[in-house]
Amino acid sequence: MRAAVFVGVDEPLSVEKLTPTDPGPYDAVVRVGASGVCRSDLSLAHGHLPIPPPVILGHEGAGAVESVGSAVTRVQPGDRVIAAFVPACGRCFYCVRDRTHLCEHGMDGMMTAKATRDDGSALTAFSGLGTFADQMTVHESALVKVETDLPDEQLALIGCGVTTGVGAALNTARVEPGSIVAVIGCGGVGQSVIQGARIAGAARIIAVDPVELKRTAAVDFGATDLVDPADGDPVAQVQQLTGGRGADFGFEVLGRPETMNQAYAMTRRGGTTTIVGMPSWDAEVTFSAFGLFYDEKRLLGCVYGSAQVHRDFPRFVSLAENGRLDLGHMVSRRIALGEVNDAFRAMEAGEVIRSVITDPQR
Ligand code: NAD
Ligand code: ZN
Repeated sequence: MRAAVFVGVDEPLSVEKLTPTDPGPYDAVVRVGASGVCRSDLSLAHGHLPIPPPVILGHEGAGAVESVGSAVTRVQPGDRVIAAFVPACGRCFYCVRDRTHLCEHGMDGMMTAKATRDDGSALTAFSGLGTFADQMTVHESALVKVETDLPDEQLALIGCGVTTGVGAALNTARVEPGSIVAVIGCGGVGQSVIQGARIAGAARIIAVDPVELKRTAAVDFGATDLVDPADGDPVAQVQQLTGGRGADFGFEVLGRPETMNQAYAMTRRGGTTTIVGMPSWDAEVTFSAFGLFYDEKRLLGCVYGSAQVHRDFPRFVSLAENGRLDLGHMVSRRIALGEVNDAFRAMEAGEVIRSVITDPQR
């Protein structure tokens, strides 16, 4: 197999030929059709998560099941699947309470060797997936079968960015029809929050991003108002657009303490602020204690759009098939596996909404 491997903080990913470890009884081998390049992969490569190399990166992917272990019942060879970056075991405390995005087995896959190098050393895979590869060995609890004609490049996005963003709006924050929404950070995940807010029937969606390409794209995905932080304090700009009150729903989709404070500050009293961005593992954020009490805002964390993947992946596929969720325009660039480092550069340069690896063999 070929895979792009995190070998050290701030070093380029190394595209290597590896030997997959033998699948266990509950594993399926998946031929990866496409993999989106998400900011969380880049954050891991920058050392924002305390995960030791070598790690096969990639956690946003779709493909087809090639073979299954003897105990696998949930998928069969030939099935089209989207990989879930948090598995849904279906039996733990959280899964039985319909909170599968908090599944207690969420970290199991991260600890499992997925491949070896010629020297015998073992590699793990990000989220137990490792979609930056031409194949991956995945526990069946992290695979969702989908029946659709949508291309893999679109299904891959449902594996992380789309489910996180649309889910943040629909499941976590529960955006209400007619409400005012403000979204800070309009990359692949932020544009999905915008689409989720549009689907929920928000009256106004304010997109905040310093990059013009992102703001222009945001209009196509449903934004009604645009804020460029270069034009002055984004909190003041959002307040000006909302009669001085602020938005009913504020979203931070960047992962930085200062923009978390902005999202909170641009949410109106009694409104809901949702933190979608993934900060560095040791970052801290401070809020006014009096304000937490007095303004009665709801401050929500958000893992994986609070998604129940077996409910939500088919739901998002159906929305896309019926033209109500735009996955096609989320794909800015199609690349080969060997171009993944350039995709990281393009992400940092603000050139793309999503780069998608559509040729994992090259
Ligand atoms: P991205 O890099 O594509 O998007 C980030 C956007 O923020 C870019 O458009 C950038 O121009 C914009 N930005 C930069 N500085 C800004 C500022 N000061 N104000 C407003 N916008 C600014 O990243 P992405 O793939 O969309 O991911 C977004 C965040 O979501 C990351 O932190 C990622 O790790 C996180 N994430 C979280 C989950 C989850 O489960 N909660 C899942 C996936 C991704
Ligand atoms: Zn992601």
